[in-house]
Amino acid sequence: MIRKLLRKVFTPRAAKSPPRGEPARIPVAQHGIHRERVSSFAVKVCKTLQDHGDQAYIVGGAIRDLLIGHIPKDHDVATSATPEEVRALFRRSRIIGRRFKIVHVMSGPETIEVSTFRANQSEETDRLGRVLADNVYGTQAEDAVRRDFTVNALYYDPMTETILDYHHGVADLQQKTLRMIGEPRTRYREDPVRMLRAVRLAAKLGLIIDPAARAPIREMASLLENVPTARLFDEILKLLTSGNAVRCIEQLREEGLHHGLLPLLDVILDQPAGERFVWLALENTDERVRADRSVSPGFLFAALLWPEVTRNWNARQANGEVAQPALFEAMDDVLGTQAEQLAITRRIAGDIKELWALQARFNKRTGKAPFRLIEHPRFRAGWDFLNLRAAAGGVPQELPNWWDRFAHAGHDQREELLRAAPPDSAASARKRRRRRKPAGKGGTDEAPAPTTQANDA
Ligand code: ATP
Ligand code: MG
Repeated sequence: MIRKLLRKVFTPRAAKSPPRGEPARIPVAQHGIHRERVSSFAVKVCKTLQDHGDQAYIVGGAIRDLLIGHIPKDHDVATSATPEEVRALFRRSRIIGRRFKIVHVMSGPETIEVSTFRANQSEETDRLGRVLADNVYGTQAEDAVRRDFTVNALYYDPMTETILDYHHGVADLQQKTLRMIGEPRTRYREDPVRMLRAVRLAAKLGLIIDPAARAPIREMASLLENVPTARLFDEILKLLTSGNAVRCIEQLREEGLHHGLLPLLDVILDQPAGERFVWLALENTDERVRADRSVSPGFLFAALLWPEVTRNWNARQANGEVAQPALFEAMDDVLGTQAEQLAITRRIAGDIKELWALQARFNKRTGKAPFRLIEHPRFRAGWDFLNLRAAAGGVPQELPNWWDRFAHAGHDQREELLRAAPPDSAASARKRRRRRKPAGKGGTDEAPAPTTQANDA
């Protein structure tokens, strides 16, 4: 319906182009976004700024999303006021400065990101053309030019309900095209992360990347190595928790962005077709995001790296290492490489290890251990993870089913479940081996059953 409306309302670009440098002014009768459909707090922020004599618009993702019928997840405001002026106008606000100064204005749980119009001053670049300083203030037209895609350069004035469209973004959206503003190669050189944004936004919005913007990606992918890891990590996390992770990853593979980009993506994308675990984990994440349930980065990365851990662990055991210490060595090996290259924070790394270590404890279904395990604060997350492994065929479905019943059972039922549980396969395999090899050396192919708190973090 929305597409039909867009088609009916928007005349082709050639028919009614505004003078050069002037935006098309699209009235509400054409675009249909009434003030009530945007965040009332964002409206208030714009109004306060305008009352103060400044220009202020809701910009970027929110307007783009509304035009295609998505609910925006947040609202950004662009203004002619400087960060200091914005800060002075809102009691609950603070200036934050990563790559450039912006102001977070808060109300209840909502945060509006207010940025000052900036010009694309690409004078200060590194030797590969990456823009280092991006904080020269400019006019609104300059601000529109420095944005990445035409569909992201739409400015909505909530007072007049007019959209200012500098680069035919509305027409591109209508034609389902993600088009770069300016010359794509230059724009990727200025900021290689735009390649990842292209893939993520196309997957999220169901747009086709315009051929001119798509073609250079493959050959320029290596520029991503030059981007600070923390920023890449943020972008990868956005991509993986967008609710379209599966589609994004498939698209990355198509664009040739999957090699050498990030060791983590190599791990994901090089899975042999038979290895279903990672894809199941991604599908599961997409479902959670779409159902508005939380996704923890720890769980996500624990899942993505799990096949790597099990490979390493199995290899160690095949070399005669004892199962439990071998698992911890394998965890350290995998996290060592990834945490460094991916800037996985210490806290997330702790969460990941905890989840992995819990997996080993699910094998022990005798004595007091199960009672202790279900009291573990991360039991639920550990169980979700176990269930995912079962769905991928890594462990019998009987195992998560048993734990689910045990966790919800009463006292007598629990005793019954303990009696009925199959013996700890890892432990019995160890025993068999010990009988064969009195020295007690050698491991099993299965998960061990540690009795101690299995976390060395
Ligand atoms: P979403 O919030 O749905 O992930 P978004 O487009 O709103 O998508 P943000 O990261 O919130 O993404 O950025 C807000 C706006 O800032 C964008 O719409 C775009 O206009 C501009 N922008 C963001 N990143 C870049 C970039 N790397 N280069 C140029 N402009 C950018
Ligand atoms: Mg946004």
